[in-house]
Amino acid sequence: MISNASSTEAHGADAQPNVLLDDFLAYTLALQQPAHTGAAAQGSCAQGQLRWVWLDDGVLQLGPVHTTCTTPSVLLSAGIHGDETAPLELLSRLVSDLAAGRATLACRLLVVLGNIGAMRAARRYLDDDLNRLFSGGYAEVPASREASRAAALEEAARQFFTAAQVAHPRGSRWHLDLHTAIRPSVFEQFALLPHTRTPVAPALVAWLGAARIAAVLLHTTKSRTYSHFSAQTCQARACTLELGQVRPFGQNDLTHFAATDTALRDLLAGYSPAAGAEGSPRVPRVFTVIDQITKHSEAFELLVAADVPNFTPFPQGTVLARDGAYRYVVQHEQERLVFPNPGVKPGLRAGLLVIEAPREALFALPGPAVSA
Ligand SMILES: [Zn+2]
Repeated sequence: MISNASSTEAHGADAQPNVLLDDFLAYTLALQQPAHTGAAAQGSCAQGQLRWVWLDDGVLQLGPVHTTCTTPSVLLSAGIHGDETAPLELLSRLVSDLAAGRATLACRLLVVLGNIGAMRAARRYLDDDLNRLFSGGYAEVPASREASRAAALEEAARQFFTAAQVAHPRGSRWHLDLHTAIRPSVFEQFALLPHTRTPVAPALVAWLGAARIAAVLLHTTKSRTYSHFSAQTCQARACTLELGQVRPFGQNDLTHFAATDTALRDLLAGYSPAAGAEGSPRVPRVFTVIDQITKHSEAFELLVAADVPNFTPFPQGTVLARDGAYRYVVQHEQERLVFPNPGVKPGLRAGLLVIEAPREALFALPGPAVSA
């Protein structure tokens, strides 16, 4: 019995020695591309069970050779912020395992490694935060190095899900956008659900529970994130996942992400956490956004410790920020601060304020923002 066959052999005779599939992250970071686009940019793997197509730098589609009208379509993205390395390593390992037949793929999968220029520079972004440029936001900053990438990634998602609508009309559509946070968090792993005026799919809530996501944050306004775009425009079950703290490449302990990794692999293999679970599935705590702190000018001051964890609660009356005549004062009995970041550009969000909501809020039709 050959137990140490190289992974190249595992791809079968129809694939060239394939660093593309063995280490898609390294391939992408090296700015490698298939020698010829078109026929040479695709092939089969997993002993002929799967087809792969390289679509663009950092954009790879995989799927079973045989699909049906109920085959789901799953978009997994990471590195939309270039310095959020662990999810990139996680997705790259997943691609390698699928291609070698070590993991099962029962759905169409689009893997997107987001901001490659920023990854190579070990930065969050080069000119503009890519996750503020979707839903057409890129048109407002045409000179930005992130603008063309936002447009390209929108188009990749649109084409992927449009094709699903035609060929797999009864298949579910998912988009999980994987991030790591800049700072520690009271809830180490949490999800942000976009505001689309439709109730959250129970299957998504069940998946979040299976992935041990401790808290869910419900947006109450539209945003220009990648997951908002795919939820709004492509009707995908979409969310942004915050999976822990940022570390440089190679310094991530992927065992820390084991629950997410397992839940992702189960989703791709076609196991549904809701199916068969008669008892109530693990449901995350739910928070809704009630306000934001806006940076108006360079005089802006955030009046909290620089390393304050996400979801830290503050009592009514606390002054959290000031900027000229502007003050942010906590209005509710308690408000929790998420994503405080005084380093953003003037005019942008320097922090979100959330309050806890009953879990039923997950399944209710979201309304407009609660006035503070
Ligand atoms: Zn991020």
